[in-house]
Amino acid sequence: MTRHAVDFATLPLAPPVLANLQQLGYLQMTPIQAASLPVALAGNDLIAQAKTGSGKTAAFALALLARLQPRRFDVQSLVMCPTRELADQVTVEIRRLARAEENIKVVTLCGGVALRGQLSSLAHGAHVVVGTPGRILDHLSRGSLKLEALNALVLDEADRMLDMGFLDDIAAVARQCPKDRQTLLFSATYPEGIAKLAAQFMKNPQQIAVEAQHEEGRIRQRWYEVVDDGRLHAVGRLLKHFRPQSTLAFCNTKQQCRDLVEVLQAEGFSALALFGELEQRERDQVLVQFANRSCSVLVATDVAARGLDIAQLEAVINVDVTPDAEVHIHRIGRTGRAGADGLALSLASLDEMGRVGKIEQLQGRPSEWHPLAELAAQDDEGPLLPPMATLQIAGGRKDKIRAGDVLGALTGEAGFTREQVGKISINEFSTYVAVDRRIAREAAHRLSTGRVKGRSVKVRLLADVA
Ligand code: ADP
Ligand code: MG
Repeated sequence: MTRHAVDFATLPLAPPVLANLQQLGYLQMTPIQAASLPVALAGNDLIAQAKTGSGKTAAFALALLARLQPRRFDVQSLVMCPTRELADQVTVEIRRLARAEENIKVVTLCGGVALRGQLSSLAHGAHVVVGTPGRILDHLSRGSLKLEALNALVLDEADRMLDMGFLDDIAAVARQCPKDRQTLLFSATYPEGIAKLAAQFMKNPQQIAVEAQHEEGRIRQRWYEVVDDGRLHAVGRLLKHFRPQSTLAFCNTKQQCRDLVEVLQAEGFSALALFGELEQRERDQVLVQFANRSCSVLVATDVAARGLDIAQLEAVINVDVTPDAEVHIHRIGRTGRAGADGLALSLASLDEMGRVGKIEQLQGRPSEWHPLAELAAQDDEGPLLPPMATLQIAGGRKDKIRAGDVLGALTGEAGFTREQVGKISINEFSTYVAVDRRIAREAAHRLSTGRVKGRSVKVRLLADVA
């Protein structure tokens, strides 16, 4: 494809929208955007498949926003996502893309969140609704959400929504949408159920798939042969040798995740597990700590890690070989994003060699094997520790805490520098702030004896910073 063909300026988008994309650093379309946007902007139904991290959100969001009439205070587009986290990510992205235009209201409707706030946001008028199927249905049956003016329905992460058993809910929502709407379906994989779903609600959808391959050379892939009872210990050796600051380690089962975290923690690493059945609050805490660099290793199953947008991931470790070669490609595609180099390390035992063969076939090249024995711990650099630690402050959006209040408390009265404070994430009831690991204990102490927004607050250090 020529350079010209992937410029956003080739699309029928308004000049302020193009300027905003430039400001966001979106200089060229990703392949899935280049393939989808002309179809979506022309108003056709679309089934688009591309790996996680390929920019699918903007591929539908720009189409929704192009058609939106800001002066009309009705819900004109509806995006369904499998989980609250994904809905939150999509909302953030749509708001970023929408900021070129007049006041566009994007409202998130997910379960596990109080209804009251959602009801009042809807009553104030929403242009775009993003949410999970169950809660959207709930609002439809209460009459708090009306879809008469809807012109676009998006099913995001459709494969995952099917996995989670949302088929009936999706069908029920689709039945309540106007018939002459556009329907856009996005998915990382293309399981059989998708075609059935499409047949039910879509009109002559165009189908677009972007190759599952990654740019050659951007991700360094290495394989190591292990015996089964040395597998978990080998993960620690990889970490000590390569010393990645953030690693996503994939296991095939929840039990393997639990076992690995236990082994890594015993070896002195900062590791946390993410699996499907964690409570939302626990999940939030795990993700916050990983994203703000106060946890080195996130151990997850494929289902749990699906769709998470984690920037700056130096390494992916495949602790078990996945039976599905495409899943392997999705796993390693988490690293080496946005021009950075990535490292994909995979462990395989003799009885997994058949699976390795399938992956080689799909990738179209042989895998590069290295002996575990060549891994030397970089001992003189000390143990591999995350640079930051997380403080949890009791009090969040509900208490009108803003990032500036927390930063102000730490850099003002408490006397720390701006550089010692990292990411600040504010949830409904809690605030998480990353601080330089070396000052974490002292920062927790000074915050809890001082004031945030004129009030004294409860502060807890989440990591062990001995
Ligand atoms: P997906 O839904 O395919 O997993 P996302 O829509 O979450 O992917 O996008 C992944 C990341 O890429 C996001 O951080 C997003 O801001 C960024 N991104 C999307 N499109 C572009 C682009 N054209 N140029 C640069 N970055 C982009
Ligand atoms: Mg997505």
